[in-house]
Amino acid sequence: MLDYYKTLGVSKNASQEEIKKAYRKLAFKFHPDKNPGSKEAEDKFKEAAQAYEVLGDPQRRRQYDTFGSTAGNRGFSGHQFENVEDIFSAFGDIFEGFFGDFGAQAEGRSSRSRRPRRGGDLSTTLEVSFVESARGCEKEIRFEREVNCESCKGTGAKAGTQPDVCTRCKGAGQILHAQGFFSVRTHCPNCQGKGSVIKAKCGTCHGSGRKKELRKVVVKVPPGVQTGSRLRLESEGEEGDYGAAKGDLLIELVVPSDPRFERVDNDIVSKLVISASQAILGTRMEVELINGRQFIDVPKGTQPGDEVRIPGQGFPSLKGYGRGDHVIQFQVKIPKKLTRRQEELMREFAVLSDDVVNRPVTGFFDRFKKKSTDKRSH
Ligand SMILES: [Zn+2]
Ligand SMILES: [Zn+2]
Repeated sequence: MLDYYKTLGVSKNASQEEIKKAYRKLAFKFHPDKNPGSKEAEDKFKEAAQAYEVLGDPQRRRQYDTFGSTAGNRGFSGHQFENVEDIFSAFGDIFEGFFGDFGAQAEGRSSRSRRPRRGGDLSTTLEVSFVESARGCEKEIRFEREVNCESCKGTGAKAGTQPDVCTRCKGAGQILHAQGFFSVRTHCPNCQGKGSVIKAKCGTCHGSGRKKELRKVVVKVPPGVQTGSRLRLESEGEEGDYGAAKGDLLIELVVPSDPRFERVDNDIVSKLVISASQAILGTRMEVELINGRQFIDVPKGTQPGDEVRIPGQGFPSLKGYGRGDHVIQFQVKIPKKLTRRQEELMREFAVLSDDVVNRPVTGFFDRFKKKSTDKRSH
């Protein structure tokens, strides 16, 4: 037989609060959802529950203290929990608000008291353009959500009537079954756990208490978002039980790529094609930025891949202050075809630069062309 104090890791004179704390700690540690497939964790989880069933109850604890675990009086031993669900049913209350996600599951398992349930969250996606993602925008979205029927305030009962308290469970929504020293709670079959029964159904919702609502919301998208960024609109989700908080609407953003711009961290990169002579001699050119067009200087002797940074024209940092830059990357276009005059000048340029270049190719057609232009010029 287990020494319940040892099992919970508390001293013999621990307070009820300490015992409760110790149990919650163990239950959390050996929770089956945290230790999937571990028989050892499950056993520990059950043992802790068994110990807590006795020590958590001051009267049973006194008896246990008096007769001890060696007294052989089986009446003072805890229940041998056969399955984990029973533990949630028995001690659901002490898990409340403790497990987070587990708590929700525990709650589902033990159909305890009927507390007003919060509405469900909804999720949707929203597409914003690259420019909108940099500047921020407002977008209207429409979606359907489930709300309570106004006629019956979500009860499902006909106007002017109230649902009757379930006679079987007296409104608790669950029934206690005594099993020796232990009691199990199950869903009340008479009211399906609702705690109430409707005699006359609401004409608007036919007794469901719910209806679909088409909702329009203007979403404020802050500047700086990207694909995968999420926005949470509080209370735009579904309605819960009447009087309980609404769920939230989660919006996942999608920013399609823009052929003009690319995002690199908080910088915006765009490419600018300039001609060979513009690269060599320099120029002034208009470029497209997120907030409009602007002239930039292309310095003399610009190389392919050179960059010009326009500060503060990028994405704002979502974390804090400051903005990224707009980076213009130059691409130099080399002409594939030259007029005779352009080629003459390029050849002269090559001579002046001491560059060895190919000799001009003169084919049949070139000769023919040359003759005909010569003729024309005479
Ligand atoms: Zn209704
Ligand atoms: Zn009932």
